[in-house]
Amino acid sequence: MTNKYMYFIANWKMYGGLNSLNSLHKVIKFFKTFKKNKQIKIIYCPPSILIRPMSKKLNKSNIEVGAQNCHENLSYGAFTGSINSIMLKSVGAKYVIIGHSENRQAGENDKLINLKIKSAIKSGLKVIFCIGETLKEKRKKITKQVLNKQIQLGLNNIRDKKKIIIAYEPVWSIGTGLIPGLNDLLDTVNFIKKKTSNFKVLYGGSVNPKNVHELKTISNIDGFLIGGASQDSKKFIDIIKKTYN
Ligand code: PEP
Repeated sequence: MTNKYMYFIANWKMYGGLNSLNSLHKVIKFFKTFKKNKQIKIIYCPPSILIRPMSKKLNKSNIEVGAQNCHENLSYGAFTGSINSIMLKSVGAKYVIIGHSENRQAGENDKLINLKIKSAIKSGLKVIFCIGETLKEKRKKITKQVLNKQIQLGLNNIRDKKKIIIAYEPVWSIGTGLIPGLNDLLDTVNFIKKKTSNFKVLYGGSVNPKNVHELKTISNIDGFLIGGASQDSKKFIDIIKKTYN
């Protein structure tokens, strides 16, 4: 695992203000020396209001910035509170997370997610496409059916694997401290790769410096999407270091 290109994506969710950007110094400094012999990509997805100042702060660091969601419409319009992918790109975003379970739970369905992915790609953003089963679905043993449906509908008419990274995030593992059994995870990631003709697949859900030594043993994973732990620079750096130790 440690020889391949690995993604470490920070999802700050609805946390952080201008002050939080000060903590990025540690990560910039760490990455300058660490990356020399490693194939690694770090992407920060802060709340939209921080995309511009964060991009400026990370300028020349090789750390990239993404958004956490976008509106599906590419033309400007009367959509109060919304931001489309063109606007995100104009302030420095290179990526956008789409289909996060917190937004699916708030009402986003597969069809809408598909439109969002298409609009983001049209704007020139890369997409971090989240899929995952709920605890109820896991207990019913329908995880693969659920993932297959999310993949087929979410990626309908989209096959460009250079533009999309899949983040497998079991809903029951997000923010709970729980992670899947390693054999289950290996099997699920293989399944996702098969269904997407080998897209990159990240794992997300309670990744932290303590469990990453187990998670890094999953040979087919291309990196991690990290929520809670990414808001603490020291923990985020520790996760990266421990992935390579
Ligand atoms: C997430 O929200 O994408 C996530 C993985 O969160 P956490 O790491 O806090 O479980």
